[in-house]
Amino acid sequence: MIRPKRTKIVATLGPASRDPETIDELIRSGVDVFRLNAAHADHDTLRRDVAAVRDAALRLGTAVGVLVDLQGPKIRIGSLENAEPIFLQRGEQLVLSCEPGVVGRGARGGEPARVGSRYFGLAGDVRPGERVLLDDGMIELKVETIDGTEISTRIVHGGLLKQHKGINLPGSSVSMSSLSEKDLADLAVVLELRVDFVAISFVRRPDDVVRLKELIRAANSDARVVAKIERPEAVTNFAAILEVTDAVMIARGDMGVELGPEVVPGVQKRIIRQAIEARKPVITATQMLESMITNPRPTRAEASDVANAIYDGTSAVMLSAETASGKFPVRAAKIMSRIVRRTESELFGEADGWQRRAVLRRGESVTLATVQAAAYAAFLADARLVAVFSESGHTAQLLAGERTETPVYVFTPSQRTVQRLTLVWGVTPLLLSRVDSVQAMMSEAEELLLRLGVARVGDTYAIVVGTSRRPGIANILKLRTVGDDESVGVQGG
Ligand code: PGA
Ligand code: MN
Repeated sequence: MIRPKRTKIVATLGPASRDPETIDELIRSGVDVFRLNAAHADHDTLRRDVAAVRDAALRLGTAVGVLVDLQGPKIRIGSLENAEPIFLQRGEQLVLSCEPGVVGRGARGGEPARVGSRYFGLAGDVRPGERVLLDDGMIELKVETIDGTEISTRIVHGGLLKQHKGINLPGSSVSMSSLSEKDLADLAVVLELRVDFVAISFVRRPDDVVRLKELIRAANSDARVVAKIERPEAVTNFAAILEVTDAVMIARGDMGVELGPEVVPGVQKRIIRQAIEARKPVITATQMLESMITNPRPTRAEASDVANAIYDGTSAVMLSAETASGKFPVRAAKIMSRIVRRTESELFGEADGWQRRAVLRRGESVTLATVQAAAYAAFLADARLVAVFSESGHTAQLLAGERTETPVYVFTPSQRTVQRLTLVWGVTPLLLSRVDSVQAMMSEAEELLLRLGVARVGDTYAIVVGTSRRPGIANILKLRTVGDDESVGVQGG
């Protein structure tokens, strides 16, 4: 009997993986959600990618989510003369200019090196003494003086700079709007494509998320928002951001550049803990199996990093360049799956497995009380699984917050909910036709569980369902035995 994994896998699609065969193989290897990076894809590519993923999901009959990642206020350097990289010598000067049309070039004839940026607000956002980082922090500059659109800097860590590389301003407050013209255009396209999740980069305040949600609502879409935590302000304002967003991503790449790599592990653990408590999905992202971009095997440190995020209860782990542009996209997904499965068996093999669940909290809602009782009852009765009937997925998401060992199968008549639950920890979403009685719903679900081979006659399982007139409330917990005829009526004992 195969057991689904609990921790979900997000894989970034790109030139190494966007063909239908590779997408199929990635899904078979355990990928639950595909990330399309709007920073690197034009609209035609986005359209093709979404269609390819939806086709594959249909072909394989599995639940697959689509997440589009909006670039957000990412600042980049402009073009360089003849597209030639320039060498930046430590101790020398570099002028950053936000005058339109500047083509960068190296130091020459006593003149310092000069590079441009299309972000016209750059000179207004930095102050003397602040750090400017180029190319994922590989090159570090210190601002000396600002004159109009020109920023004079001193090169602290030099190196070879290629054109269009990213600029990070860790100590500055970037005034660029949270969604650029490009983001708005990308958003319109991807909402039309009915993607399941939209991620927003470089979130600073809860307002950034609220504004995106308003745009999504105005476009008549119910896509969910993933707030990428990568700016220092987002770490500081995390609790408030968590309140308004649907899900979060620990974007360790830019976070490491902006805050320093030593800050990432602690922040990661805190974000995972708080997200579980808020019962919202949390994706741990970037460099998880980085060495597999070029190697067929990950380093032990990478395997350990993935495992530790799983031990902490992350909802999903993410592959970036490993699947987008690496040499071994399918192998990376397979190895990720193997680490997930192995770690989960270690995790739940412990005697105190049950005690790892979220701390009980009283009086929050009828549904929370029901799912907590279900998680506990399933544990005590050694139930095969918990079957949840859920229209919106809300009940399933609350149950996932318990991080319980018992597998959870969610039955829903909504394809949208199926896709949305691909990011939620520990749940397997299944589509069930809409029936009018709870009895009929349960027997259909039981048949499906038998057919899928996830339960056998005689197995005990727990059921969570709502019978309230108010939608979205689950108020019934039931323990059932597969195949039992319950039509004989109520009996004591
Ligand atoms: P990116 O975000 O890959 O879009 O930059 C993730 C990160 O910064 O870690
Ligand atoms: Mn980033």
